[in-house]
Amino acid sequence: MSKLNQLQQLYQELADQAAKLPLANSASDFVPGEGNPDAEIMFIGEAPGYHESVEHRPFVGKSGKFFRQTLAESAQISEKDIYISNVVKVRPPDNRDPSPAEIKAYKPFLDKEIGLIQPAIIVTLGRFSMAKFLPEVKISQVHGRLHAVRWEGRRLFVLPTFHPAAALRNGRFRELFVQDLTKLPKVLAWVKDHESNFALADQVKATLL
Ligand code: URA
Repeated sequence: MSKLNQLQQLYQELADQAAKLPLANSASDFVPGEGNPDAEIMFIGEAPGYHESVEHRPFVGKSGKFFRQTLAESAQISEKDIYISNVVKVRPPDNRDPSPAEIKAYKPFLDKEIGLIQPAIIVTLGRFSMAKFLPEVKISQVHGRLHAVRWEGRRLFVLPTFHPAAALRNGRFRELFVQDLTKLPKVLAWVKDHESNFALADQVKATLL
């Protein structure tokens, strides 16, 4: 079965479990991930907001448009080459933070997406997706720095950055967010050169900082 079919099957499983999953009232409440199943870069946000819940697409509201525009204009990365998903697949009421129980309930779906896409690099948008791979760090200290992480038996390269909504609220975060995304093509090229030697990547990741 193709990756696309497997992703579709995964989202069907999600819809089938609407009655059991937190935040969801019906199968139409879910916002699936979207993008290229063969993407080398996977972005992970927090949870859908109002516009995402209406359009059933991730990052299509104000902060999403800003994210997509920064990606195209500053990073020169085409949306056709990426995959975007969220930690939680349904909009929390009033856009509140997702709870630990909600994050846990949706974890198997995000983990399966990561397993299917197998991106060369994961870019976390905001603290909730960062905490999945890098617990106990502060985003202001680690954003824009490539991390080689061992996570649930996998080896992953993770680049944390700010959530685009935070970047829109705060001029300094905005500047740093744009800087972090701008260097993404260079970071990706480096990762592809080093992915066969993860131990080396672990040691020399400072060269990218
Ligand atoms: N914020 C997120 O974290 N995800 C979305 O899909 C939209 C806004």
